[in-house]
Amino acid sequence: MKILHLYPRQNWTRPVHVTIPKRYTYFWEISAYLWKHHEVTSLDCIDPTYSIYDISKEFLQEDYKVLVLLVRTENLKQSLRFAEFIKSIKPSTKIIIYWDIINHIPWFFKESEFIDAIVVSWDWEISILSYLDYIENKGTTVPTWIYLVTEKKTFQWSYLENEWSFPNPDKAPSDYYNSLNWRKQLSFTVARWCPFNCSYCLSVATYWVRERRKSTDDVIAFMSENANRFDSFKLFAPTFNFNQKWVIELCSKIIERWLKFSWCCSSRIDLLDDEEVVKLMAKSGCYKVSVWIETINDSSKYLNKTFTKDLIKRVAWYFKKYDIVLKWLIMLWVPKQTKKDIYELFCLLKDNDITIRPTSFSPLKELAENENLTTNIIQSYDKFTFYKYWVEWIDKESYYKLIIDPNNFEEILNGKN
Ligand code: SF4
Repeated sequence: MKILHLYPRQNWTRPVHVTIPKRYTYFWEISAYLWKHHEVTSLDCIDPTYSIYDISKEFLQEDYKVLVLLVRTENLKQSLRFAEFIKSIKPSTKIIIYWDIINHIPWFFKESEFIDAIVVSWDWEISILSYLDYIENKGTTVPTWIYLVTEKKTFQWSYLENEWSFPNPDKAPSDYYNSLNWRKQLSFTVARWCPFNCSYCLSVATYWVRERRKSTDDVIAFMSENANRFDSFKLFAPTFNFNQKWVIELCSKIIERWLKFSWCCSSRIDLLDDEEVVKLMAKSGCYKVSVWIETINDSSKYLNKTFTKDLIKRVAWYFKKYDIVLKWLIMLWVPKQTKKDIYELFCLLKDNDITIRPTSFSPLKELAENENLTTNIIQSYDKFTFYKYWVEWIDKESYYKLIIDPNNFEEILNGKN
């Protein structure tokens, strides 16, 4: 049974290189897992050689029986349109969809006439595999965490242990990815899930229950195999330092084995308030940590994610001392955020040598409360153009300037009353 695993083209609301890490972790890692069990061809439409025409040609000539579609907010319309097109010309095709937005609002997709199955929970690769087995075995096996549209039923299961896969950079268009990025970087998953459940984040909806991590030996083996081909690695975990014991073990092994890696990760600033851990991370090759601080003052209380300025300054000092870049991911136009908050926030970052990357506040969790959802509404919740919580004191042009040119915040904000 031939299967096509597809990452459809997405609209470019964000810089293209920002999307590459998740292509490795949510597409190529899933592919690597499925390849062990089925005859799967994987195509990432980031490559401009794959138009809808080209993919349709591939699809029809190779006689694929199942289409596995990665669907996210930024490619929703294109993905559903493609699914509809394939179903209209070849109704026997089975189409299954997955990714975070599907986990979050599966009910939106359940009435679809051209989708056959929806991954509703847990590790996508396990659920997709269970569906492929179900199709191949003509319905004699039971799918896992899958909603079957024809049966109008969700098949649940226990939360199975995952035999983790790593992305295969030989099969992914790594050279093309590298050409879009300013460094040759390979991303891979080290952990899934986050316990903090911030009000705007889909982490819990995406990864469901309990944290799971790859073994430190497997992580080191993968990095060693690929160290000659890539300048650096992105170790993907929603909150890297949530399991500090694991972090210490990983860093210690890298140091003890005299391995020279350059790596980065994402974390929470309160979990980095430990000088010894920051020192160990630096010694084992960590060059950058991105932290989701979002905002300060009353707006941080609105998000239920407040860190003291003393904590931020202290952690920034550790990072400066051990020469790791601290990159602060912030959100603009969070409810209750004032001009003073934003000014104070940007000054705090500048005074402490923290790199800034602002995005527009996009509370994806709100989608679950909207009974009149449309694909247009879902797709509007991207992290650049979304601006529901508009404020009076800045015009739209200045707002977007603040996102694309944050280092000029004084000039941008001072020009406004
Ligand atoms: S700490 Fe980060 S990953 Fe975890 S729920 Fe909050 S925003 Fe999401």
